[in-house]
Amino acid sequence: MYRYSIKVYGCQMNVYDGDKLKTALGAAGWSEAPEEEADVVILNGCSIRDKAEQKVWSDLGRFAPRWEREGRPFVAVTGCIAQNAGRKMLSRFPWVRFISGPRHIGAVPEGLDRLMACPGEAVALLDDDPRAFEELEGAPLERGNPWKAYVTIAHGCDNFCSYCIVPYVRGRFLSRSPGEILEEMAALVSDGVKEITLLGQNVNSYGADFIDGYTFSRLLRDGAATGVERLRFVTSHPKDFTPDIVDVMVERSDVICPSINLPIQSGSDRILKMMNRGYTLDQYRRAME
Ligand code: SF4
Repeated sequence: MYRYSIKVYGCQMNVYDGDKLKTALGAAGWSEAPEEEADVVILNGCSIRDKAEQKVWSDLGRFAPRWEREGRPFVAVTGCIAQNAGRKMLSRFPWVRFISGPRHIGAVPEGLDRLMACPGEAVALLDDDPRAFEELEGAPLERGNPWKAYVTIAHGCDNFCSYCIVPYVRGRFLSRSPGEILEEMAALVSDGVKEITLLGQNVNSYGADFIDGYTFSRLLRDGAATGVERLRFVTSHPKDFTPDIVDVMVERSDVICPSINLPIQSGSDRILKMMNRGYTLDQYRRAME
């Protein structure tokens, strides 16, 4: 049985991906171990927040003395940092033997098995097609917090705000199917979870890529009926924030928390235009009303 340790740097989505990875690796026969005993150390990191990226870079340097002494452990870099800087990491650090972008997360357990079977090889799973996604099946049952959990409802983003790297490292917008999300929520509730936060770069665009008209407000209503005690969501985009979302929040205020993260980004229409945010200050005000 191979052993791994994992460190997560970055946002809630990285935490969610890390928990799903732990659950999937456990199911594939891997066991979690302290870093000193691990065959592979996984660094699941973010390149959207500069501080998180810098932490991964400095953490990578730490493995040099042990690698020179013992030739182990292998380091696997996953998440959007791997998509953005993985090739540089592979060529700079001989102990980095595995990189995988966020849209290849479903292939990570098999890729790590391949790495252990062929230790002379390096494995690179980069997201060349920004619309493809290899999902990890199942709910994140191996969590740091037994009572709270995240559930990603959509991957990537199509908005291309001028200052943001997300569409390039997390790919284009892709909604997960409602059935898959609701099943995952129900599994988490059965596992004792009291509070679920639905995640997406832009949750209220959820369903924009469906042809059957299923929307974020419908997902909220169906999610509130799974038996979860508290339901939250982040992040919303002002240009897609519609009244039906507020209607469901009022209708299911017994479950859905009265909290909306609606980033304004700037109070200047000129700057908002330069940011390619897709709304004016006046439109933002109207969304708030
Ligand atoms: S909507 Fe958010 S995630 Fe998408 S490009 Fe703009 S800032 Fe980035």
